[in-house]
Amino acid sequence: MRHATKKRAALNRVAAEWRHKFLLEIGRCERCNHAYLGHLSVHEITNAHARQHALMERAAVLVVCQYCHARFHRKGMAGKLEALAYLYHRRGYDFDLDKIHALRGDNWPELSEVMLEVKRIIEGERDES
Ligand SMILES: [Zn+2]
Repeated sequence: MRHATKKRAALNRVAAEWRHKFLLEIGRCERCNHAYLGHLSVHEITNAHARQHALMERAAVLVVCQYCHARFHRKGMAGKLEALAYLYHRRGYDFDLDKIHALRGDNWPELSEVMLEVKRIIEGERDES
């Protein structure tokens, strides 16, 4: 399917450009604040089957450093929950749980689970200072 391939390639180019601009806009790891651009990338919070739809969705991506990126993937479902909580904590204006549910095709996680994780993050930051 030559046409579909071309269309996909064009979409990938648009997505790559959008993601690069987004990375520059945020400019730091949204988990640990690491700010060296060469170490940063855009992490998709939702699972693989929704990836194409989530590539340019502010409510479904988090800018992360290499260390935090590996950590989120290593932690599986707990990593997705943690990433969503950091999105809420750092960029509440972009947080949209209904959009996450639509992309995932289910109702996980519940808002109360995200809020518990946000509380854990805030308490952790308070203990560090
Ligand atoms: Zn980090």
